Amino acid sequence: MAAKVFHDGTVLSWNEDWQSIEVLHHTSILINGDTISAIGKDIEAPADAEVIDSTGKILTPGFINTHSHLWQTAYRTLAPNTTLASYLISYSQSSQAIKAFSAEDIYISCLEGYYEGLNAGVTTYVEHASNNWDLDVVKRGFDAAVDGGARVWWCCAAEDREDVTAEDVFEYIDTLGKRNPAYERQNQVDLAPSSMNEVLLTSRRELGLEAITTHDLGGPWPIGHNTPSIAANKGLQDLDVPIIFSHGGLITEENRAALRKHDWNLSITPESEMHYGHGQQTSRLVQDHASLGVDTNWTFSGDILTQARLWLQSVRNVSYNKTLDSGRIPRENPMAVEDAFLLATRQGGRAVRRDDVGVLKVGAKADIVCFNGNSPNMVGWTDPIAAVVLHANVGDIEHVMVGGEFRKRNGKLILKEGEWEDFSKKFAEAARRIQAKVNVPPQPEKFMGVAEFGEVESMTTRRQT
Ligand SMILES: [Zn+2]
Repeated sequence: MAAKVFHDGTVLSWNEDWQSIEVLHHTSILINGDTISAIGKDIEAPADAEVIDSTGKILTPGFINTHSHLWQTAYRTLAPNTTLASYLISYSQSSQAIKAFSAEDIYISCLEGYYEGLNAGVTTYVEHASNNWDLDVVKRGFDAAVDGGARVWWCCAAEDREDVTAEDVFEYIDTLGKRNPAYERQNQVDLAPSSMNEVLLTSRRELGLEAITTHDLGGPWPIGHNTPSIAANKGLQDLDVPIIFSHGGLITEENRAALRKHDWNLSITPESEMHYGHGQQTSRLVQDHASLGVDTNWTFSGDILTQARLWLQSVRNVSYNKTLDSGRIPRENPMAVEDAFLLATRQGGRAVRRDDVGVLKVGAKADIVCFNGNSPNMVGWTDPIAAVVLHANVGDIEHVMVGGEFRKRNGKLILKEGEWEDFSKKFAEAARRIQAKVNVPPQPEKFMGVAEFGEVESMTTRRQT
């Protein structure tokens, strides 16, 4: 692979000494293989290097999505007004809806999820692969993680299902690194089963786990109670593997302390928590050990840029209201745009304990996003972090590179195989077919037979007559 140079752009680089972003204007990035080998004004590029003119552009690290269930992408727009309870009952891996999917459908549904992200500059995923009801379904989900072209920590939810056991899944995972040539060759898929269970603790050290991920809902939710304190009590810190707890919208002080103590991470999925009603009250208090995720990309935005903006403004809103409730005027702004940017990039790398992902610096993986700084919504910027976090949209993303290879070029997705136009037709057909087959069961008396439903204050634009 010939060297590549993003020439003369504005680079949001990572300064190790400052432990923050350093904005470098009129600066180039040299890429050799899958790695950034130089950043500077006068870098020496080989004569045959491919030069990408970046004048007027803003170059950022690829965004990191630390929580997704991409097999569900084919549901897109199916349930725009759903709640978490109805999602779990009607559309999750525990629902009847899974019967609408063939293993092949899972493959293209996951693929489309990765393409959506790559188009939006999401170069890295922690995929919580809950497609685990059949071994073929598990396998095709993994194939999509390889073929999608993103950098993926593929965390398969190994649990005992009717047709497949956790042990089966672990056995499959055990073979992947050795057997899958794509994994060996491109080195972009890291492996990790997810469930926090005894099997993992007692006998799975030899798998060489790269990450573990699990749900932490808290509050009155009768499921997803995998808190950092419980993980610590089970001794998971002895595995010395990064653990990513998703949501934690109601995370307690004790659990925030456990997260910090063991250098684990919370994946905040702002749009999901607001949309479904997980509850989102305390994640903002542990942002030093947090990153951003999407969760279910079929119900709302699949891009991390949107999550960063939503999160930033919702945190500001909460903090401001506290001051206003005390009868006083806010003296200052509670959260800076740089923190939102870091949650979307550097903090995602930290979540998987990788210093070479989510940053632009020499030695880091060449996961790079190039923004057109000259679009109607961006032109005039002087602060490139603000331009990206508060003004950019996905349409401004011209190029996306993962490990030195273009996945989007001049505004157009570059698939590892085939053309977007052909793929999109196939996906649209599958989505319509799958959505037509999904039946929504009536709401039960109690959620999972135990949790009481409560009234929700409704809002409408309809005028009273
Ligand atoms: Zn989830």
